[in-house]
Amino acid sequence: MDVVKVLYSKEEIAERVGELAGIISRDYQGKELMLVCVLKGAFVFMADLIRCISIPCTVDFVRVSSYGSGKVSSGEIIIKKDIETPVKGKNILIIEDIVDTGLTLSLLSDRLKERKPDSLKVCVFLDKKYRREIEFEADYVGFTLTEEGFVVGYGIDFNEKWRFLPDVCVIEE
Ligand code: 5GP
Repeated sequence: MDVVKVLYSKEEIAERVGELAGIISRDYQGKELMLVCVLKGAFVFMADLIRCISIPCTVDFVRVSSYGSGKVSSGEIIIKKDIETPVKGKNILIIEDIVDTGLTLSLLSDRLKERKPDSLKVCVFLDKKYRREIEFEADYVGFTLTEEGFVVGYGIDFNEKWRFLPDVCVIEE
């Protein structure tokens, strides 16, 4: 596997993350906001986002598996690490790296909604809209991808590699 091209540079990413954080800060002004980072892919995105958000918020982490070590969705999710904070009465914002078929975020949202938060929304760094298999709309989107390709970098891996890249890149065999 080789990195073939930079899709979004670290400068473009920083600008967009700042914009998203501004919108989120305005939308949740005066509310109790809890960011729920989906591990591992969203850890860099969340770390950048939270430092640009200008209202107080708390964080927690969840780990789900839907993809194995390859590139094909297994069609189900398993919560491998649950969040540790009660969500009842809180405004939950799930932070995820990529929405692809929509399955993972749809199922995760349903699971968290069962715990009766005040509100639950989803913020994704990348939206692969063209790949959607079920109806799912994220509330906040960093970038919408329009072309085929497997992306890595900015916390996003392929077989645990490439997370360290500061840019978002497309890889090819
Ligand atoms: P979904 O359930 O929406 O099909 O799957 C979303 C998950 O698929 C993402 O969180 C991510 O882990 C994985 N995924 C989808 N497309 C890509 C991609 O281009 N690169 C990487 N590394 N993961 C992807």
